[in-house]
Amino acid sequence: MKKLALHWQILLGMAAGVIFALLMTNFSWGAEFIGDWIKPFGNIFINALKLIAVPLILASLIKGISDLKDISKLSKMGTRTILIYITTTVIAVSIGLGMVNLIKPGSAISEDTRNELIASYEGDASVRIADAAKQKEAGPLQALEDLVPSNIFAAAGDNSNMLQVIFFAIFFGVGLILIPEETAKPVKAFFDGFNEVILKLIDIIMLTAPYGVFALLAALVVESPSADLFQALAMYAVTVLIGLLLMIGVYILIVWVFTGRTPAFFENGIAPAQLLAFSTSSSAATLPVTMERVEEHMGVEEEVASFVLPIGATINMDGTSLYQAVAAVFIAQAFGMDLSLSAQLGIIATATLASIGSAAVPGAGMVMLVIVLAQAGIPEAGLALIFAVDRPLDMCRTTVNVTGDAAVSMMVAKSVDKLGEPHVKDWDDNLSAENR
Ligand code: ASP
Repeated sequence: MKKLALHWQILLGMAAGVIFALLMTNFSWGAEFIGDWIKPFGNIFINALKLIAVPLILASLIKGISDLKDISKLSKMGTRTILIYITTTVIAVSIGLGMVNLIKPGSAISEDTRNELIASYEGDASVRIADAAKQKEAGPLQALEDLVPSNIFAAAGDNSNMLQVIFFAIFFGVGLILIPEETAKPVKAFFDGFNEVILKLIDIIMLTAPYGVFALLAALVVESPSADLFQALAMYAVTVLIGLLLMIGVYILIVWVFTGRTPAFFENGIAPAQLLAFSTSSSAATLPVTMERVEEHMGVEEEVASFVLPIGATINMDGTSLYQAVAAVFIAQAFGMDLSLSAQLGIIATATLASIGSAAVPGAGMVMLVIVLAQAGIPEAGLALIFAVDRPLDMCRTTVNVTGDAAVSMMVAKSVDKLGEPHVKDWDDNLSAENR
């Protein structure tokens, strides 16, 4: 019997999780039951994904860079990657600004609703504002300074130091290219094998994905705030969603034009990673799956995927930047402020930088939004206005973040002649060594 494609299995798991949670809310003990007995499995699933993120970056990036055999290829790929990432982010912010100015969701908010929202979420908002204040104290070169770890074990010991691990892996890979091939051989063989093991672990984890997303979505449904506040923010949420959908359209189009791969090919390849991004709200947790999909199902060679994707997961957040632009202008509109053209152009710059600085974890985009607000002179307390719908929007913007990384990896691969045919290994077939 032909097995259901993975993305359908995941979608079924998600739908079952939502339906199960809605049924359980009919019982007084339903929410507690889900919190005690279902949610932990969702957390275990996310932890398992995060567990392999650092080893995966180390192994695949060291292998990928050393396979390049030539440092000039690395700098060519690096420059293209960064340029394309910045371009897509600027496009995303511009789409966000265009939509929010067109729809004007903030003007629909009455003063009463505004005060009610601020009163309900003042406390939550001030926590984010305090988090952002710590980031703002940093000097202009802090980000560069933070790139270089003083201890690789400390860097690898903290999932939020992904860029430091990437730096070490690239540095190590360069060293491996520069030493005589004979000496490099055993080190390369070790990382090749290590990489295979990690890829196998992703296969195993993905077998549990439908159950993992079931637990994650069930927990989200019982934890979500009341629907009344959702309604007041519906226009704002719809503005962000239209922007995000347009952005997915942009990716599909540029992949089609630049690489010749059809929209169906792109969507079939990336769908499982998109669904996981949606369920986990974390590009970092989704990274292992994004890498596997892009390499095995979309034909991007490992040298490119292992370089472009981990960097993308940490710095390329188009969905986040689009959301930040919409949210900033929405808050300004709700406070009756008129933003000048130069203030809006300023938002393009700060939202681009803020999305680069956002960590690839749930809710990070909102912390960095505080910086965008401050730069544009919009009251930071306005953050409370958008709190109620932040989680669902986080799920959607993370999906776009991950899709953007995949699209850019295909373009970079095409430009350096490393976009081949998919070599799909079936999840289950790939489970035991004899099946290979
Ligand atoms: N959750 C997003 C991500 O991991 C970041 C954000 O916008 O909050 O990509």
